[in-house]
Amino acid sequence: MMNRPNESVPAVFLDRDGTLMREVNYCAHPRQVEIFQDVPEALQKLKQAGYKLIVISNQAGIGRGYFSEAQYRLVEAEVERAVRPATLDGVYFCPDHPERATARRKPGIGMILEAQRDHRIDLARSFLIGDKAIDIDCGRNAGVRTILVKTGYGAQELQAAPDWIAEDFAEAAEIILKQTQLEPDGTA
Ligand SMILES: [Mg+2]
Repeated sequence: MMNRPNESVPAVFLDRDGTLMREVNYCAHPRQVEIFQDVPEALQKLKQAGYKLIVISNQAGIGRGYFSEAQYRLVEAEVERAVRPATLDGVYFCPDHPERATARRKPGIGMILEAQRDHRIDLARSFLIGDKAIDIDCGRNAGVRTILVKTGYGAQELQAAPDWIAEDFAEAAEIILKQTQLEPDGTA
């Protein structure tokens, strides 16, 4: 990995629920956070390959009034704790109710553009991993390569058209690492 100070860097955009952790239908409490077993190690490998790790998560439970932003923040802190030793570079969430959605809510690309600005991300060298068609649509709308995982809702999301399909997060990470080796300069 040879990212010079002024150069943009690639990222892996990460859906949270059903992708990094078990889908529990509106996770409202840190106790409900169950990170999939191989996720910390897979995140660490992606990081070592030069990728920024950026969570982008629709949290309509806030907009629907199921839980508060303060409760969401407690869950977010638990996720960050539970993926260690990997360190997330950014966590973006969208509280919008689906019927009053802004461009931040996936499949809108608002969160990706915010992260791109905050972290100097090169979207053309980036990837998105998610378990829903709206994740895949978001990635495609932003011009990043997409991987659908079959965990969470992934096995039912037959209308999704990802670049790759993986059994789980660890396999998705391996796909990215393999692609990284095929990049022109051999680095992320
Ligand atoms: Mg999900």
